[in-house]
Amino acid sequence: MSTTPQGPGLLDERGCLTASGLATVVRAPVGKAPDELAVHLASCVRCQERLLATGREQERVPRARPQTWRNLLLVLMALLAGLVALGMTLAILNGR
Ligand SMILES: [Zn+2]
Repeated sequence: MSTTPQGPGLLDERGCLTASGLATVVRAPVGKAPDELAVHLASCVRCQERLLATGREQERVPRARPQTWRNLLLVLMALLAGLVALGMTLAILNGR
């Protein structure tokens, strides 16, 4: 009866995307999402907002962690460079 190829559980009774439906759209390459999901997304503000919310959460988590480590490493390198410069200055002053 149904001609849609995707598995069950992508749309709920109301026709809105389920969690796995949203995941399918997020994972699909641009323009390659299943037609039924794409058509519903184009007309449903609620699902658009849910999709944007999942996209934001997925972007935030991987970006925040490496930057924290990079900043910490930069601070430590600057501190180390300052200590080396101080040590060299003291050595020069004592040697005189
Ligand atoms: Zn919807």
